Amino acid sequence: FEEKLRRIQRLEVVGQLAGGIAHDFNNLLTVVIGNLDLIQSDPKDSERVSRLAASALQAGERGAELVHRMVAFSRQQTLDPHQIDLNEVVTRMSEMLRPTLSARIAIELKLAPELWTAFADPGQLEDCLLNLALNARDAMPDGGTLTFETANRVFDTTHTARDSELKPGAYLMLSVSDTGVGMSPDVLAQAVQPFFTTKEVGKGSGLGLSMVYGFLKQSGGHLDIYSEAGLGTSVKLYLPRSVGAVAAEPPPPAAQIVGGK
Ligand code: ADP
Repeated sequence: FEEKLRRIQRLEVVGQLAGGIAHDFNNLLTVVIGNLDLIQSDPKDSERVSRLAASALQAGERGAELVHRMVAFSRQQTLDPHQIDLNEVVTRMSEMLRPTLSARIAIELKLAPELWTAFADPGQLEDCLLNLALNARDAMPDGGTLTFETANRVFDTTHTARDSELKPGAYLMLSVSDTGVGMSPDVLAQAVQPFFTTKEVGKGSGLGLSMVYGFLKQSGGHLDIYSEAGLGTSVKLYLPRSVGAVAAEPPPPAAQIVGGK
């Protein structure tokens, strides 16, 4: 019986993961289709066409990578963490997103200078950011501002939210904020649950935030969500600072927050 239970639990995890990958794959397809649609609407502007095509190509390549990872996972492979320059990832993601967002959505970057190096799986981090950015887009049907922010953070005491704990130490904060519809306390409380969605059938799988949450937990990081109905939402990801980088750098400067809450 114990063994059966373990198998069922493992199946549940695989099911959640597969659903999550399908969700991410769908997000990437949204980018590809959106860009092709824009190309079709005005195929003569070659400079614009080549920009849109480059972005669609990048999303297509990410999709291929995702499928590759799904195959790798079925062979029981896990996260492949690397040292990451979050400012570079955010800058690249925002360029990739621009054509997918309506002109009424402004993208703002608040990148901390002298940001430490993070340690996480870069492909999965990008999937998380895409999920969060598309949630922000959905929350701003009448336009608004999507803000990406990075900062170095030091926690002196254990920081707890939901059922995840962040041990004291050095972390990188990356937030994705919108000025959209926000969430009621009731929705906020359930937002991270797998398959919880308030979106119409076919528009949401309810797996985006649960994937982000799972990724951070597995990476030794942490997820905080601040949201207020009518005002907007800020999703903060905390990733561990790369230990390898610590030895190579001068002592850490004091925690910095650039325009944070
Ligand atoms: P999905 O986007 O497929 O619904 P998620 O797990 O990403 O799945 O989100 C779950 C729910 O949380 C959404 O249906 C929505 O109600 C709420 N939510 C997530 N992100 C935001 C946001 N930026 N603004 C407002 N509500 C959000």
